[in-house]
Formats: sequence, C-alpha cells, structure tokens
Amino acid sequence: MATDYDAPRKTEEDLSEDSIQELQTRRSDKSSGVVDEDETEAAEGFELPGADLSGEELSVRVLPRQDDEFTCSSCFLVHHRSQLASEKGGRLICTECAA
Ligand SMILES: [Zn+2]
Repeated sequence: MATDYDAPRKTEEDLSEDSIQELQTRRSDKSSGVVDEDETEAAEGFELPGADLSGEELSVRVLPRQDDEFTCSSCFLVHHRSQLASEKGGRLICTECAA
C-alpha cells in the first residue's frame, strides 16, 4: 500500500509506529556497514603478533664471525682458529676437510 504523503497530521500513535519502522529500516541499512567494522577490528588484532616477532628476531639473530674464527673454504662452516689446518692462497681449510 502506497503511503499518502498528503494525508493530514498523524496521531501520536501513528508517529511512534513510523519512528519504529524508520529505526528498523536504518538498522537494516547499517547491517552492511557493521561487517566492515568487524573486519577493521580483526585487522587490528593481527598487528599484535608482529610486535612479538621483533623481540624473537633479536634472540635468533646470528652473531657476527669472531676474530678467532674462520670460514672453511671447503665446507663453508665457521670453525675456531685451532681447527685451521691449511691457509694457502687465501683458502682456509679446516682440520675436518684436510683429513
Ligand atoms: Zn671444512
């Protein structure tokens, strides 16, 4: 039934009924917007793990090679100077590779 906008002033009862209908219409209109708000909250929650990773990165960080260590030219592993078997032509060979 089409609404007659030219009808005379409505009674209070009619007005309250209309306002309820208006609220329900607005609520259904907002239902699509509520989904966006939820997505925003979820995105904010995912930022927390990133802060934890920064602390983990520090503890896992590889220490720089020390002066008393060398990288074997054969196995490419870092060994202590005491395991250096050969150092010819810039090639550092550990005792394991020289054996
Ligand atoms: Zn080696």
